[in-house]
Amino acid sequence: MDSFLSGGICTSECSLHDRKSIHTIHTEDFPTMENGLQQQLQQLQQWNPAMEDLARSELFKPAPRSFSLEESTRLSYQRAKAFAKAYGMPNLSTLPFWKLHLEPLLTLDGGAFTLLSIQCNLFVGTLAPFALKRPELQPILQSALDFDISAQFMLTEVNHGLDARNIQTTATILPDGNIDLHTPSPNDAKVMPPTTPRGGLPVVAIVMARLVNEDKDCGIRPFLVQLGNGKEMCKGVISKALPQRTGAHPVDHALTYFDHVRLPRSALLGSAKETENKREGFLSSIHRVAVGTLFLSGCVVPSLKLAAFNAASFSQNRLVTGQDGSPMAVIDFRTQHMPILHTIAQYSVLEAFFVSAAMAFREQSVDPRVRHGIATAFKAVSLGHFSQSIKAMNERCGWHGHYEHNQLLQMELEMRGASTAEGDIRVLAIRTCLKL
Ligand SMILES: Cc1cc2nc3c(=O)[nH]c(=O)nc-3n(C[C@H](O)[C@H](O)[C@H](O)COP(=O)(O)OP(=O)(O)OC[C@H]3O[C@@H](n4cnc5c(N)ncnc54)[C@H](O)[C@@H]3O)c2cc1C
Repeated sequence: MDSFLSGGICTSECSLHDRKSIHTIHTEDFPTMENGLQQQLQQLQQWNPAMEDLARSELFKPAPRSFSLEESTRLSYQRAKAFAKAYGMPNLSTLPFWKLHLEPLLTLDGGAFTLLSIQCNLFVGTLAPFALKRPELQPILQSALDFDISAQFMLTEVNHGLDARNIQTTATILPDGNIDLHTPSPNDAKVMPPTTPRGGLPVVAIVMARLVNEDKDCGIRPFLVQLGNGKEMCKGVISKALPQRTGAHPVDHALTYFDHVRLPRSALLGSAKETENKREGFLSSIHRVAVGTLFLSGCVVPSLKLAAFNAASFSQNRLVTGQDGSPMAVIDFRTQHMPILHTIAQYSVLEAFFVSAAMAFREQSVDPRVRHGIATAFKAVSLGHFSQSIKAMNERCGWHGHYEHNQLLQMELEMRGASTAEGDIRVLAIRTCLKL
């Protein structure tokens, strides 16, 4: 835990105090970056034998066609849990946290990857700083790292996505000191976090809600809330599964409503006092979203590796008759090998860019707006390259590209989720430009 807090990137990096002017940031603000880049990159590229064992295990074999939606969803949870155990999530610190997002095995199941990323970045990353001061939170953190629970982060509401500062879910401190958590209207339901019992695990969430104390809006705060026990939802918590996301591995994304759910006062993470600067308070509460902007986009790298490998394997095996009448592999056509080589160049550069962006991002001395700008730049560039290259890799595989076992179409659709989640690229880019 301590290693996650000190070596990781989840403590006060996004504290918005003591800022330098955004215009005074120069490259010398990142002194250790160039020196360490090569070394970090080499360490990240080291092969993990535990992942190889897991890749060969029954659990990671393709799911039987006869599986229902519920069974397929449960499988993604089981894979996420097995991955967490094999990967050693309890000792998660900086490098393993970065590496998680580059792990090739997770390209086999985007659902499991989504669950792991939410759990480890948004839930654990938000809760960990509070657990330093409140030891009673340590067991729940450990359960999340062990994947004994499904741990969610609930910010977005039906009518409040990119404008999440306007969320309407309320958490009212009652005269007896307890808290009443409530969804005022269907438009204020939390949307996307997977909260149904389909995963078969108890579900716990960090719910972002407007703290109301003595009729005063004190600003948005995180609350730790148990949503279900893996079989049933808790009293007053209603979860309605959304339909399956087109093309993606099934995750039980849902609409979640709170009907005057009674919480103990200890559910509040942070102060009950009114926040003076509501905007900064809000950004500080959701600082892990900025982390996710960068790290979730890192999965472009293993996805492009897989796509290039599949397209290259196909192209080496597919033979046509050449002009001299002898068989030739289609890889020999310039129009075939150039896009594959292009993709290899892209993921090689993006991998180094990812590491250098991550190193810059964790520099506590740098203005958080600059670090968020770096995350946005990485997300825009990596997903931009991905969307062009994945299409090219797919088209170069003929009819084979249309089938699930080649993963190309599915990866493209899966990655569109990453493009929207943790900040839509266009709006992140507009906001970055406005800050400059
Ligand atoms: C796979 C996936 C997983 C997710 N998981 C979670 C989760 O675990 N927890 C959670 O809380 N949320 C989650 N989300 C929700 C995600 O955070 C939101 O989808 C995201 O913040 C965008 O909000 P929105 O979809 O409501 O888009 P909207 O706010 O409705 O925006 C839609 C479009 O409107 C335009 N637009 C909106 N605002 C502006 C503006 N200011 N300037 C210019 N154009 C604008 C843009 O074109 C934008 O793309 C997930 C989403 C996905 C896809």
